[in-house]
Amino acid sequence: MSMVQAILLKNGRVIDPVNKLDKKASLLVEKGKIKAIFTARQKAPVLPKKLLSIDLQGKWIVPGLIDMHVHLREPGEEHKETIASGTRAAAAGGFTAVACMPNTIPVNDNQSVTRLILEKAETAFARVYPVGAISKGSQGKTLAEFGEMKQAGAVAVTDDGRPVMDSQLMRRALEYASNHKVLVISHSEDSSLSRYGAMNEGFISTSMGLRGIPHIAEEVMVYRDLALADYTGCHLHLAHISTGESVSLIRQAKKRGFPVTAETAPHYFTLTEEAVKDYNTNAKMNPPLRTRKDRAAIIEAIKDGTIDVIATDHAPHSVLEKDIEFDQAANGIIGLETSVPLALALFRKGHIDAFRLVELLSSNPARILGVGGGALGIGDAADIAVIDPEQRFILQEHDILSQSKNSPFIGSELQGKAVLTLCGGRITHNLL
Ligand SMILES: [Zn+2]
Ligand SMILES: [Zn+2]
Repeated sequence: MSMVQAILLKNGRVIDPVNKLDKKASLLVEKGKIKAIFTARQKAPVLPKKLLSIDLQGKWIVPGLIDMHVHLREPGEEHKETIASGTRAAAAGGFTAVACMPNTIPVNDNQSVTRLILEKAETAFARVYPVGAISKGSQGKTLAEFGEMKQAGAVAVTDDGRPVMDSQLMRRALEYASNHKVLVISHSEDSSLSRYGAMNEGFISTSMGLRGIPHIAEEVMVYRDLALADYTGCHLHLAHISTGESVSLIRQAKKRGFPVTAETAPHYFTLTEEAVKDYNTNAKMNPPLRTRKDRAAIIEAIKDGTIDVIATDHAPHSVLEKDIEFDQAANGIIGLETSVPLALALFRKGHIDAFRLVELLSSNPARILGVGGGALGIGDAADIAVIDPEQRFILQEHDILSQSKNSPFIGSELQGKAVLTLCGGRITHNLL
């Protein structure tokens, strides 16, 4: 990380859906803020004498990406990831902010854990927004102190990693959270339907001799949570949506004006259950990879706005949790360093335009979390990602900055890469 007083990002394609900006321009960063954006035809502002000037011909200049669903594993599981290593991976992926899930050890269900995370985040490579637990210890019994955690800096609550099975507790959580103006994020899974399952339930799980997780395990809970959001009138955000029927339910709910938003993860619009065919534990996750039909429905939902956000659900695990029998292996994959190329594939295939891409990865998560960023306004903090949409690379394990390497994309050729990241004007990642 280095701090330069002033940086000129020259001649890139500046894309900012919030300010309706998509043009070739230069962007001046001074004292950590966006000072000016100007085209070749416009009069350049007075440039400071000490200036780092970077030519960005052919590159995209976008608001710093914001990942609203990340597991940083600290405190408690530092052998998988730390706030330092996780945010370093984030910066390498073009992210300037991440929201970290509370299923640490101990669970982030009180102000002291929230404070600890924020203290460690002071020297991190990205902004860190702690998400507190809905219930004490995420045990699903009694509500945690939302007001206390919010005061300490939490931006949302969830029991992510597991569902809130008690519907009354979820109802109270929505009401209590809306009083304290914190967002409720639902990990939608009916664990009585998913229990013991290791992959999507269907022909492939049967032929592999693995117990399945049926798509209804997600949909039953999505339906319940949509009903609760409507009944209470409280905003609900649905995490990692993976099935076709889930998106139909969310689409209908949005049409009827329910206060809901939803996210999916890059693996759900990229891979299918076929990725687990060779018992590859790096393709094991929860919710599991689904069918081709589900994947097509997720892409459709990204196109039509049913899905608001692409979040990675970055879930680092060491070989201790992954190099074991498929049944026993931990769920989840890392995602911070592959989100940009996977999302860009949607753009290249013509599913979404550049504005929509930036909305999904930056502007919408900023708005939903109620945090800064997501735009390139004059005077805004200089949280910026520079993306080379053309660069091709083969993902190599030794290039991954996350402490864990559990990615099903290792060895794959990907296209599109974050080449420079600025967080508050500080260079947190630089390949130029
Ligand atoms: Zn989850
Ligand atoms: Zn998660």
